[in-house]
Amino acid sequence: MSHLNLENSLRQWNEFGEFVLMAMPYDDHVIVKAEGCVVVDSDGNELLDLTSGQFCAVLGHTHPKLIERVSAQLPKVVHTSSNQISLPVLEAAAKLASIAPGGLKKSLILSTGSEANECALRIAKTATGKSGTVGFSQGYYGITLATRNAGIGWGRGPAALPALPNTARLLTPYCLRCPVGAKYPECDFLCLKTSEEVLQTQVTDVAAFIVEPILSAGGMIVPPPGYLQRLQELARKHDALLIVDEAQTGFGRTGKWFGVEHHGVVPDIITFCKNAGGGFPVAGVMTTDVVARKLAARGFYHLSSHQADPFGAVVLSAVIDIVTEEGLLEEAAQKGRYFADRLLELKAKWPVIADVRGMGLMLGVEFVRDPRTLEAAPEMGHLLRGLCLRQGLHLNYTMLGQVLRLTPPLTITRSQIDFAVTVLDKAIGDALSGRYTAEELSPANRYTRRLTRGGWPRKFAQYAEKLWLTSPQGLIRILRQKMARP
Ligand code: PMP
Repeated sequence: MSHLNLENSLRQWNEFGEFVLMAMPYDDHVIVKAEGCVVVDSDGNELLDLTSGQFCAVLGHTHPKLIERVSAQLPKVVHTSSNQISLPVLEAAAKLASIAPGGLKKSLILSTGSEANECALRIAKTATGKSGTVGFSQGYYGITLATRNAGIGWGRGPAALPALPNTARLLTPYCLRCPVGAKYPECDFLCLKTSEEVLQTQVTDVAAFIVEPILSAGGMIVPPPGYLQRLQELARKHDALLIVDEAQTGFGRTGKWFGVEHHGVVPDIITFCKNAGGGFPVAGVMTTDVVARKLAARGFYHLSSHQADPFGAVVLSAVIDIVTEEGLLEEAAQKGRYFADRLLELKAKWPVIADVRGMGLMLGVEFVRDPRTLEAAPEMGHLLRGLCLRQGLHLNYTMLGQVLRLTPPLTITRSQIDFAVTVLDKAIGDALSGRYTAEELSPANRYTRRLTRGGWPRKFAQYAEKLWLTSPQGLIRILRQKMARP
């Protein structure tokens, strides 16, 4: 097993780590450069990036044409007042309209996905005059109060957000582990029907349903054929708008401009971010003339510092042009099929792989402990991530630890895919050997260690808790609780 040399990275962590507010358990590698599908750290280690950064670098890192277009714009104008419009914004809006499905020709350029989804929810509320929001139990739409409440992560953990009234989550159409114990297609979308009944008790007036074409953070779950059409019917029944969140599926990732095109549905609103900026912070919403007219009639404003900035618009136009010029939709479809086939070879070899799923270059691999019972193997994500990283392969997993998500830049080569499959194959064997613990595959820098294992205050609290639980008083209390149970 090769261990990459991390001397410089760890020295830099020691030198500067104390100034970093640890918002994530960061890896040891201190990144200094990225080009195409490869990211390089301070020790010169090259990592093949199967995550496109944070699912954004759809063209590969620092694509020369993108850098050229951005560099040419920088000396002209990058930012304007929110009540001014610039030529790049007008041009980008027309370009977006040319790739948008159906009649989604009106757009607004923003900077993050959370902002775009917040904006979309407000558009839906304004256009319908209602306030209810419905997302998915395993959906993810952003980090704000409204967006988190519509999906996973609401109300959990020490920094939990308060629950937002009039917000509900539908059961996720996760066919491998059906939430209502049914089987597709005989189920006739029983999960949706069940959700609909529960919905009546939770939301009084639905303004919007929001869904991802592939529920990424929630487990790379692809809604089965026909599901989104049924969801749209449900939205219509409630006189609500359907918002499709194309954060990860947009701009060619699935082999089409937008993931929703695979589902044969034209929603009322599309939101985009991530891929749209190719690594720069660009996001936005697209909607129809019908919705735009309602907003105009009712009065709608979206005031944020970087809305309709020429910088974002130039990036967006460049991404659309480069995807078109380099035929990246077709590339994503073809290489995605190749990658999926190679992963299916691994599935045939390793019975612990229960499923390989996805569209284009957006693939998920699900691991189980026992293929007969499908008992999930949530430890595999962390183990495989750590083992692959040691071999120069950067990948990630989802909120379900047993599901890897593989989303490389669309410019990845077949030999890079082969390298990834070889490394993953070996990592699966190593993970199953039981020779590696989660602990030893975790980052070594002390700041991440403190975050994941806790410093002495957390350890002290754990010891105190153990001491209390094993004390005579603690044991008596536990016994009393047990005896009081029916
Ligand atoms: N929607 C989806 C589907 C996402 O994956 C994300 C980001 N992971 C967001 C919205 C939020 O985007 P941002 O992080 O740019 O706010």
